[in-house]
Amino acid sequence: MEDFSGKSVLVTGSGAGIGRAAALEFARQGAKVMVSDIDEKGGEETVAMIREAGGQAAFRKADVSKAEDVNALISAAVEEFGRIDCAVNNAGIEGKIAPFEDQPEVNYDAIMAVNSKGTFLCLQAEIHHMLQAGGGAIVNLSSVAGLIGFPGLSPYVASKHAVIGMTKNAALEYGKAGIRINAVCPGGIDTRMLDSLADQVSAGAQNSSQMMDPLHPLGRIGTPQEVANLIVWLCSPQASFMLGAIVPVDGGFVAQ
Ligand code: NAP
Repeated sequence: MEDFSGKSVLVTGSGAGIGRAAALEFARQGAKVMVSDIDEKGGEETVAMIREAGGQAAFRKADVSKAEDVNALISAAVEEFGRIDCAVNNAGIEGKIAPFEDQPEVNYDAIMAVNSKGTFLCLQAEIHHMLQAGGGAIVNLSSVAGLIGFPGLSPYVASKHAVIGMTKNAALEYGKAGIRINAVCPGGIDTRMLDSLADQVSAGAQNSSQMMDPLHPLGRIGTPQEVANLIVWLCSPQASFMLGAIVPVDGGFVAQ
């Protein structure tokens, strides 16, 4: 299936994990992909993987919490591929686990800067471009932590609830302009981020699969590819009536 031939796509945080899987899947389906990450090595690796598989990709380093980086990234993507048809605002950090009353202010600021403000800045810049270009599709990465609370993760939970609010508002404001904006809410997904959370909780005694598999009604955590499949579908013409949707991809986690 080549839904994305001739289309160009931007994926932030695509030097690893879910973002990388989405970048690879878009490329498999014919898209030209602007890979972006704060981690240059990971980003270049993703580009190499796409090119080795016969796809087209370029890398631009950007810290999504900085407006100048985000604006330069959008310009670079437009310069490289002519336009941005789809964007995935995926870059995110988990931060430190601590009871609410002990959460350091610096942890709150860091998480909100990347997950919440980063999504805000990317959305603004992408919307500016897509309004001029005549439309597009955007997917934001929220989380099951954007739908329910997780003790110990209050700044992360707040940041992911914020992503859902921004998704709904931007969708309402720009649907009629032909920009479809939706969010996905993954459950536990097998990436570095989940490993970090499992390490913090168990001090290395359990890996993320041992700790998180039983918490999911499907009996396991998910793969980055399983989230990428939903992201790519939401950007595709098959999802033409999806707008402002907040879609869990969580092995039944929030159905409990
Ligand atoms: P990951 O494996 O840690 O990958 C995230 C990527 O984003 C990394 O390459 C990271 O670089 C990069 N990044 C961090 N800060 C950035 C910044 N300021 N600007 C640009 N890039 C930045 O995480 P993941 O699990 O794939 O998570 C991807 C998204 O899904 C996140 O928004 C996360 O909150 C969300 N999510 C994940 C899960 C899960 O279980 N994995 C569940 C629900 C939602 P560094 O490695 O250098 O920091």
